[in-house]
Amino acid sequence: MRQMEGKVALVTGAGRGIGRASALALARAGAALCVSDIDGAEETARQIIDAGGKAISMTCDVTKAADVSAMVAATVEAFGKLDAAVNNAGIAGSFDQRLHEADDAMFERVLAVNLRGVWRCMKAELAEMLERGGGSIVNIASVAGLIGAPKAAAYTASKHAVVGITKSAALEYAKLGIRVNAVCPAYTDTDMARSAVQGNPLMAQIMERAIPMGRLGQPEEIAEAVVWLCSDASSFVTGHPLVLDGGLAAT
Ligand code: NAD
Repeated sequence: MRQMEGKVALVTGAGRGIGRASALALARAGAALCVSDIDGAEETARQIIDAGGKAISMTCDVTKAADVSAMVAATVEAFGKLDAAVNNAGIAGSFDQRLHEADDAMFERVLAVNLRGVWRCMKAELAEMLERGGGSIVNIASVAGLIGAPKAAAYTASKHAVVGITKSAALEYAKLGIRVNAVCPAYTDTDMARSAVQGNPLMAQIMERAIPMGRLGQPEEIAEAVVWLCSDASSFVTGHPLVLDGGLAAT
């Protein structure tokens, strides 16, 4: 189904993982894409174009305001508007240190990418969407944005904050044609989850056992929800943190 026909979307952190899967799914649904990342975005754009879609790629570090402004400006210059934005770029930080042992620099870095990056992207995207009368923003939070995760306080704090920003912005723009939602995946089979397993073979079992379905999510399963939230099919949904977790948060 071409739910995004005629629409223009951007995805941050689209060089691999959930970001790339979301960009490819949005393109399959008919959207023209600006895919950005600090690394790998050209390959995602190439895959979209090879499959017959429209895409440009940008190098964009979401911690840099000038990069973020340039990404939104390039999207509008290439395709004339911005209908949907997926704020996906994120880092894990440390997943193996208790709070009192964790590094301050790691905390700052996780907040800089996961929270301030989303904040900065939303400011640029909302300004553009307001000017043209509407849009849909999807922030990639985490199930760790809704429940605690031991030894991951920085990540958990950043993702709870993303859910908070999502809800506040949804209320601010509800009457102005802009919807703002989040998705909250549990462990998903990407480099981020794989690096948590590296050097800790038990971690894979812990992840799978934590999920009632007994397996990790696939990036494509998260991407399906992203497309739905970006599209008009979800036209009465705003301020919603959509849980995609194989049942984890129900335990
Ligand atoms: P990933 O590590 O495979 O991909 C993350 C992407 O973000 C990479 O391409 C990376 O280059 C990019 N990135 C990192 N720092 C950036 C920066 N400063 N500016 C721009 N891009 C940057 O991880 P993923 O699993 O695909 O994660 C995507 C999102 O999903 C993240 O926000 C993550 O927190 C969230 N998430 C992941 C999982 C999981 O288990 N994989 C679960 C819940 C939420």
